[in-house]
Amino acid sequence: MTNRCPSCRKVRIPRPREIGVGEPFVKCRKCGTIFVWSRRNEWGLMTAAEQSKYIREMLMCPLWWGAASVAILCAVDWWRFGALHYLRQPLLVLSVVGGSIVLCGLVIVAKMRRDIRRSARRLADPQYRDQLHKLGILKDAE
Ligand SMILES: [Zn+2]
Repeated sequence: MTNRCPSCRKVRIPRPREIGVGEPFVKCRKCGTIFVWSRRNEWGLMTAAEQSKYIREMLMCPLWWGAASVAILCAVDWWRFGALHYLRQPLLVLSVVGGSIVLCGLVIVAKMRRDIRRSARRLADPQYRDQLHKLGILKDAE
């Protein structure tokens, strides 16, 4: 996918980090051209494979937070004690790692639910569907 507006070639369009739920197009800040953006799509237009890829990518985040919290405990142990101290306490490790996974998981799930709800609301709008038709994202039968 191009990183620049296909019309004026001037404005750089930031690449989204991961596949996401949202408008499958981008509007150029400079010339106003609307063009298709394949890294994002409406939930209702995604294939089952894309939906599950999206969920998997989103759920990686809590796991990263869990790993990061272990790294932080490790760093604190090293700086403060020069040896394993906090990491030797299974209950503490479990609650810190579990806590960060659960917290991040809740945030991610709330975000996914919100994005999917907004996506469904957009798709229910006839004007919006019209726009998708013009961009060739929606076929006539849909
Ligand atoms: Zn442009």
